[in-house]
Amino acid sequence: MQALMMNSQLMISSILVHAERNFPESEIVSVTADNPLHRYTYKDFASRSRQLANVLPLLGAKFGDRIGTLAWNDYRHLELYYGVSGSGMVCHTINPKLFPEQIVYIIKHAQDKVLFVDLLVMPLIEALKAHLSEVEHIVVLTDKAHMPQTTLTNVKCYEELLATQSDQFDWPQFDENTASGMCYTSGTTGNPKGVVYSHRSTLLHALAGSLPDVTNASTKETCMPVVPMFHVNAWGIPYGSIMAGSKMVMPGPKMADGATLQTLIESEGVTYSSGVPTIWLALLNYLDQSKTTLSKLTRVTVGGAACPRTIIERFLTYGTKVVQGWGMTETSPLGTVFCLKRDMTDLSDTEMVDLQCKQGRGVFGIQMRIVDDNNQELPWDGVAFGALKVRGPWVASGYYGLSQEPGSEGCPVDEHGWFDTGDVATIDANGFMQITDRTKDVIKSGGEWVSSIEIENAAVSHPMIAEAAAIGRYHPKWTERPLLVVVLKPGASLSSQEVIAYLTPTLHKWSLPDDVVFVTELPHTATGKLNKLALRKTFEDYQFP
Ligand code: ADP
Repeated sequence: MQALMMNSQLMISSILVHAERNFPESEIVSVTADNPLHRYTYKDFASRSRQLANVLPLLGAKFGDRIGTLAWNDYRHLELYYGVSGSGMVCHTINPKLFPEQIVYIIKHAQDKVLFVDLLVMPLIEALKAHLSEVEHIVVLTDKAHMPQTTLTNVKCYEELLATQSDQFDWPQFDENTASGMCYTSGTTGNPKGVVYSHRSTLLHALAGSLPDVTNASTKETCMPVVPMFHVNAWGIPYGSIMAGSKMVMPGPKMADGATLQTLIESEGVTYSSGVPTIWLALLNYLDQSKTTLSKLTRVTVGGAACPRTIIERFLTYGTKVVQGWGMTETSPLGTVFCLKRDMTDLSDTEMVDLQCKQGRGVFGIQMRIVDDNNQELPWDGVAFGALKVRGPWVASGYYGLSQEPGSEGCPVDEHGWFDTGDVATIDANGFMQITDRTKDVIKSGGEWVSSIEIENAAVSHPMIAEAAAIGRYHPKWTERPLLVVVLKPGASLSSQEVIAYLTPTLHKWSLPDDVVFVTELPHTATGKLNKLALRKTFEDYQFP
C-alpha cells in the first residue's frame, strides 16, 4: 500500500525560505577582505541570494552547470551556497590553498563555467590565467571600490552584478537527487577526486547534524564555523545552523588567527564553533599569552584529524567542552560524534577525557562496521581493529567523471554497498569508534600494527613539543619501525633519549619510536593535516642508528 503523504522534494532553497520567514532578524556577521566587520540579517541574505539567482543566467550558467568558488567563510560565500544550488546549479567549492596545479586540474575536471573569487585569491587566478581559458567568467567577490587591477578580460564585480538585479525569484523545484554541490578530496594519493552531493543528501545531513547530541543547532545559539566552507561544506553548518535560525559569525580569511577568533567569540557572543585541531591550538596559545578568556563559548566540535588530549584539557580550563567528530569529504562529512549514553553519569574527569579522545558514536543515518582482511566483521569490543566501512544516504557511491564499475577507482563501495574509509579503527561495546590510523600510515613492525596517531598524541602531550609525526621506516629485522619527527616549542631543547624516556610509561614497548629527529617545521596538506606522504619522501633514505 502506498502512503498518502506529500512527496515534497528536499530542496536546499527550502532552508533559505524557512529561515527568511521565521528568523528574518537573525544576524550574519562576517570578516571580509573589503570590510573588517560586515553585518546583515537573514532577510538581507535571502534577498541577495535571489538577486544572485537572477545574475547566474546572465553569465550563461544553466541548470546542472558547475560554478566554482575560491572563497573564505563570509556572507557572500553563503549567498553562493544558496543562490547556486537553489537554482539547480552545482556549487563547487575549491580550496585556494591547494597547489596551483591541483587547482587547475580541479577546475578543468569539473568544467567550471564561472568562478567566484575572493579578492585575496585574485593574484593566484591572475597567475593561472593561461590555464583557465575554458572558464567563461570570473566574478570578484567585492564592490566597485575594491575591484583589483587585472589583465584578465572576463572579470566582473559581484556587487555591481547584484545591484542590477531584482530580488524577486521563485526557487525552482526539481528532483531532490539532483547534484547540489561538489568538493574534491585533497588527493594525497593520486589526482583529487570529485565528491558530488545532492539536495537530498545535504538536507538529511543538515537535519541529523542539528540533533541535540550532534551540534544542537538552535535559534538561541551563535555559531562560528572556523572550518572553511571549501572543506566539506564547513561540515554542513551553513545548512543546519541557518535552518535552525542561529546567529552566524563568519571569520573570513582570519581563520588561523587566534586574536581575531578570540575577539569575535567575545564581541559577538559565540556559543558554538567548529574546526580542525591546528586552529584550536592557535586560539589556545593566544588565550594563554594574552590572559584573555572565552566567556560564552560552551562547546567546540573538533574533527578532520585526531584531537590531541591536550586540546580537550586546555579548553576545559576555559569552560569549553570539546566534542570530537569524525568524517571525510565522502561522508558529507558527518560520521561519528562524541556523545555520552544516559548511564554514563559517574565518570571521573580522566575517564571523560579518555572518551572525548575517541572519535565518537555513530550518528543516525550512518551505519558503520570494522572488518578484517577477509572483509569479515570484527566485534565491538574496543580491542579488535580493522578497516572502517560506512554506508548511509550522505555517503558517496562514486566520484565525478570516473567509471563506477565495481573494483575501479571511481567505485569506492564493496558489493554490499559499504564504503571503505581508508581508516583503521576499533569500536567499543558502547559504540565509541576510535581511529587507530589511516590504512596507509599504519606502521607494520614485525607482526604488530603500530598506530602512528597513538605515538603522536603521546608526544604532543610533552610541554616542550609543539608538533610531532610518526612514520614507518625500513628496519632490517622488523621490516618497519617508528621514526618520530618532532618540532619543539620556541626556546625548548630535548634529546632523542629524553623524548623516548617520556613516552616509555605511556606506549607499548613495540610502539616506542626507535629514533627521534628534530625539525623546524612539518609538511602539511592544504587542509592543515600532517602530510605524511611528503614526510616519508623527506626521510626516504633515513636509516636507524
Ligand atoms: P583527505 O582524505 O583528503 O585528507 P578529508 O578531509 O576527507 O580529506 O579527510 C578525511 C580523513 O581525515 C578521515 O578518513 C580520517 O583519516 C581523518 N579524520 C577526520 N576526522 C578525524 C578524527 N576526529 N580523528 C582522526 N582522524 C580523523
